[in-house]
Amino acid sequence: MATAETLEFRAELKQLLHLITHSLYSDPEIFLRELISNASDAINKVKFNSLANEDQLEGNKDWKITITPDKDAKTLTISDNGIGMSREEVVDSLGTIAKSGTKAFLEAVKAKQSSDLPGLIGQFGVGFYSSFMVADKVTVHTRPAGGAALGVKWVSDGQGTYTIESAEKETRGTDVILHMKEESADFLEAWRLRNLVKKFSDFIEHPVVLVTREEKDGKTETTEDTLNSRKAVWLRSPREVTPEEYTEFYKTISHDHEPPAKVLHFSIEGKSEFRALLFIPATKPFSFDYEEQKAGLKLYVQRVLIMDKCEEVLPPYLRFVKGVIDSADLPLNVSRELLQQNPHLETIRKNVVRNILSGLEGLRNTEYEKYLTFYRGLGPVLKEGLARDWENREKVADLLLFETANTEPGKFATLAEYVEKMPAGQEKIHYLTGESAEQLRHSPYLEAFRAKGEDVLLMTDPIDEFTLPHLHEYKGKPLQAADKADAKTDDGDIPADVRESFAGLLIAARAHLPEVSDVRLTKRLTESASCLVADAGGMSAHLERILKRAGE
Ligand code: ADP
Ligand code: MG
Repeated sequence: MATAETLEFRAELKQLLHLITHSLYSDPEIFLRELISNASDAINKVKFNSLANEDQLEGNKDWKITITPDKDAKTLTISDNGIGMSREEVVDSLGTIAKSGTKAFLEAVKAKQSSDLPGLIGQFGVGFYSSFMVADKVTVHTRPAGGAALGVKWVSDGQGTYTIESAEKETRGTDVILHMKEESADFLEAWRLRNLVKKFSDFIEHPVVLVTREEKDGKTETTEDTLNSRKAVWLRSPREVTPEEYTEFYKTISHDHEPPAKVLHFSIEGKSEFRALLFIPATKPFSFDYEEQKAGLKLYVQRVLIMDKCEEVLPPYLRFVKGVIDSADLPLNVSRELLQQNPHLETIRKNVVRNILSGLEGLRNTEYEKYLTFYRGLGPVLKEGLARDWENREKVADLLLFETANTEPGKFATLAEYVEKMPAGQEKIHYLTGESAEQLRHSPYLEAFRAKGEDVLLMTDPIDEFTLPHLHEYKGKPLQAADKADAKTDDGDIPADVRESFAGLLIAARAHLPEVSDVRLTKRLTESASCLVADAGGMSAHLERILKRAGE
């Protein structure tokens, strides 16, 4: 048998572990949620694989996650009969592959000077490594599905190295053995574990069982006690689920540390039958700043998890939405490739999008402050829908907020409100793009519109330049950049004698300004003497600046 080999954690992991073990994290109790969720994932994986290959089961499908405290040994063991890991998988998953974005996370921590460290760690979601918040040594004993004879034992104190060796293990699955720190000894108390499972993991679909041993008359008595109610939240009636239960479920699937801004829980019957439980986050998740996010929802078919991130049911511009779809119609045992061409998925996607957009509208109408917080962070993502979801672009447009030349700084108007206030005779919706509303409020482009009592939308997200042109019009009113040459304010005909008296000046100006393509008279200005405008079909000045910066 191979002897134990000592290996080093990858550099980023080392730093992450150092942070976890040396920081006073306010919620060490989340380790249990993380380990139970890993155990549950592992069971779902072997369950899914066994649909195609029953041998994987080895006759062991009494799905169970056990928690065994041992006060004498000061250990807490979390075991599952899930898919297990091979030696290679252990080295990869627990020693090499840092969660995507670890590097950026560490940089963010450095930048923040650890002032908000607990918040950051919570948002980042440290998964398996949260074990080291409560344990000074962790042993992972695992054997993969498929009848391998030998298992693997991984041991680490989280200080930079780990050992790995072959080790007999009779049953498939994984035991995580935590050697508890002195100050974490209360996690060995049955009442504490009971409360935590109820709080964090009640909806986990597999039984979470507390195993306690008692000495009675010289004999050891073992008691098994299922702690969770196992009722999948999404299968329950929305009337029966408390806001706390929704929040805990959301935290488990999202790693967010805040409650969601909005819960959407609905079912569809008819040609396609499915249930959906979706969450809109309160703020932009930390991970949105450092890595590209893929849209996706967990896809269950009759309670079996088929895909962890099904992209077919959620368009990319709604990638901030987290949740679960449980379908009654999809086939259980087809390949993922075939599943992705299934027409039911299209029906699900349409319903999901409609519900999210109207959910956002509801949030804006009833909890405006919450909506604002959401919108400040994720509005730019939502706006991609103008360009990418032709069918729903008006609905997306309904959700947008803009400062305008007439709003107080920091207050917003919707497009509908803008259109409602348009004076008779205004045919187009005017907008101006730039760095900040503050700067745009002083723009000479606004003068002529102000003089006519017409308002101008101030657009300050870089993405506005790219998405707004896709909208073309809103409620039948075309959108028009206020700094483009054919803005209506240039049309007013200027008397011939005025034109004549300025002709010489224009010729001289053109000669002196080779950078501009033309110099014209205009009525658009009331106070300023001159301004630059873009050609009707050309880029706006702001877009030119954005592209120039991007190219640098
Ligand atoms: P995540 O669960 O987000 O992938 P974790 O840090 O919690 O991140 O776990 C890292 C990886 O280790 C998992 O993706 C999985 O491959 C593996 N793993 C952890 N716990 C188990 C387990 N009980 N059974 C099988 N694999 C596991
Ligand atoms: Mg995990």
